[in-house]
Amino acid sequence: MKKLLAVSLLIALLLCGCASNAPVEREIFAMDTVMTVRVWGDDSDVAAAVSEINRLDALLSVIYENSEVYALNRDGEAELSFDVFDLLVEAIEVSRRTDGAFDPTVYPFVELWGFTKDTQALPSQREIDAVLPLIGFEQVECDGDTVTLVNGGKIDLGGIAKGYTAQKVVELLQERGVETAFLNLGGNVQTLGSKPDGEAWVVGIADPENPSQAIACLRFTDSLALVTSGGYQRYFEENGVRFHHILDPKTGCPADSGLASVTVLAQDGAIADGLSTALFVMGIENATTLWRKSDDFEAVFITQDGAIFATEGAASLLTDCEFTVIER
Ligand code: ADP
Ligand code: MG
Repeated sequence: MKKLLAVSLLIALLLCGCASNAPVEREIFAMDTVMTVRVWGDDSDVAAAVSEINRLDALLSVIYENSEVYALNRDGEAELSFDVFDLLVEAIEVSRRTDGAFDPTVYPFVELWGFTKDTQALPSQREIDAVLPLIGFEQVECDGDTVTLVNGGKIDLGGIAKGYTAQKVVELLQERGVETAFLNLGGNVQTLGSKPDGEAWVVGIADPENPSQAIACLRFTDSLALVTSGGYQRYFEENGVRFHHILDPKTGCPADSGLASVTVLAQDGAIADGLSTALFVMGIENATTLWRKSDDFEAVFITQDGAIFATEGAASLLTDCEFTVIER
């Protein structure tokens, strides 16, 4: 009898050991990309994270006919639920602080280039000029929860939705008492807490010339969101010229700021995501000016000729590469 008790105690200890040291992991496809959810918790924590991702995907998608964003674009006016409204307000805030480099009203251009429906084609200047008056966050008017798009504009939260979702999932896991988690939502990485074994989180930055390889690594031990925007992520080619999916709202064409990618590090996932798209459009000089007057993000820039630049806070985490530090 005594022996039996000792054995079952050992099993219980082993099970406890598993719960705190070995994560539960699930890979899913949502928001048009592959996502990994790794939680130092139990199956129900992972299931809650996955259902939160699917819930937000269903609300925020620009292509699902049942989404709130789709209804707003179709009808020009819609009463939005908390998350969609909250994210739209955050998106407009990023738009303001980046002087419109990030702009949720960019959707008419995204449609024109065929990026959402994989029907990519080079538009004519006449087509671009016709769409230009529909772009600009002043097209979005809010009255309580009701949002109106004046002038027939359309919104796309695709440049910030994955970061917002990662943020919401981390908050949900925290509420459930989870202390450690690692999310990779299609390249948007967000960590919660420190690894139980005390090791650093190591996140690679893709080489824009060879995206399956890392060109550098970021090492850190606590909660952080890391989001990369790059011209190599989604594009088509015509007559040997590459046209990528991050558009400059001022020209209606793929941003051509001299950057191959930007990785933004921030405490908040939505900020990291919105800013990564914006800084890619702005280019290193304007992005540095914005960084100098901000205190909520750091960044790693890779230029089209392969040079790496890191703001001071990012530089202290950057390894396995040569780089230039951008000082305050
Ligand atoms: P991804 O979502 O592909 O990882 P980004 O976060 O940079 O990369 O978002 C790019 C997406 O955002 C595009 O596919 C498009 O839907 C949308 N988008 C493109 N240009 C802009 C822009 N200037 N401002 C806001 N959203 C944009
Ligand atoms: Mg983004």
